[in-house]
Amino acid sequence: MSDNRCIYLDNAATTKVMDEVSEAAVYAMTEVYGNPSSLHRLGIDAERLIAYSKKQIMSALGVTSEQGEIIFTSGATEGNNTAIFGIAETYGKRRKRVVTTTVEHPSVEKAFNRLEEKGFEVVRVSPDENGEITAESLFEAVNENTCLISAMLANNENGYILPIGEAFQRIKKRYPDCFTHCDCVQGFEKIPLSQKKLNADIITVSGHKIHAPKGIGAMFIKKGVRLSPLMVGGGQQKGIRSGTEPVPMIYAFGKAVEILNANLAERYNHATEINNYTREKLSGIGAVILSGVSASPYVLSIAVPNIKSETMLHFLEEKNIFVSSGSACSKGKTSDVPAEFRVPEKYLDSIIRLSFSYETSESDIDTLAEAVSIGMKNLAKIRK
Ligand code: PMP
Repeated sequence: MSDNRCIYLDNAATTKVMDEVSEAAVYAMTEVYGNPSSLHRLGIDAERLIAYSKKQIMSALGVTSEQGEIIFTSGATEGNNTAIFGIAETYGKRRKRVVTTTVEHPSVEKAFNRLEEKGFEVVRVSPDENGEITAESLFEAVNENTCLISAMLANNENGYILPIGEAFQRIKKRYPDCFTHCDCVQGFEKIPLSQKKLNADIITVSGHKIHAPKGIGAMFIKKGVRLSPLMVGGGQQKGIRSGTEPVPMIYAFGKAVEILNANLAERYNHATEINNYTREKLSGIGAVILSGVSASPYVLSIAVPNIKSETMLHFLEEKNIFVSSGSACSKGKTSDVPAEFRVPEKYLDSIIRLSFSYETSESDIDTLAEAVSIGMKNLAKIRK
């Protein structure tokens, strides 16, 4: 790899679209441009592309069409909102308790804030003093008055993996009427998962985190779950998500899933090797590793002591190395999530999130470590 190539270590924020995936989108835009609701051949061909993508996503989640629906959305923000408001509206008339965690993405966190304003009792489970969210604590938060629990699989800021499968299994066994929703955005096509293992009634995923374009996501909704739609209109997608389906985006998403699903284990091992290599290199130069060893290998949260996150971020950017100062969604606004995970206060201003892809190489990490090391020497003089 040449030195002037950019080193992109912000794959938890978004990813580069794969060539085959953008070709799929162009094919659907230029050749299969019919409206999937049209009765003629071009419409039917467009409908087939949607069916192909549904099949890919169902297979990646280990489900069949007998078990539930795949609904396409504009992304996981819409998916999470649809799941949370959809359940609350349909099932929350009498059962007014809803449960989530304090480490969710804002698209979940803020949906729950709104439910609270509407009179729901919101229970937010926090990590314990070791920074762990236990299955027990999630289970204990639910009671017979609970219509929904929503918790993420892998945290977007540090890769922490929540014990969703165990928690949701216990909850469904004891409270079969409580619906379980999992935001799988940072887990889908990254860590091995299945709907069955998660015991989730609703799963949300997003295309742009897995080398498909921005603006496309999907939800798995288990048979029998009735979601009140966020938007009403032409009744497409079983009325759960009206609006003409964006066939090029859907087809591109399906292509990305098919390609990635074929070598998930291989990519996982690569991410693990890169993650371990990064931990070793960066701790060797005095950076503090914040992500636990059992976190997703795709995300590594570190702190560079005494250097503000944004100062380091821009220093690295000048060297064509792209990282995040935490969650990209918050743009400058500091997140409460690291403190929730018990990151010591002295590091809270100095967090850098590195997130990897199948393209990340050890030589990328060597270049990163060298740059961080130079930054630590130079920037310390001008800090704060
Ligand atoms: N949930 C998680 C865990 C995320 O990381 C993100 C993206 N930052 C979202 C939801 C929102 O996804 P989208 O950008 O597709 O709306």
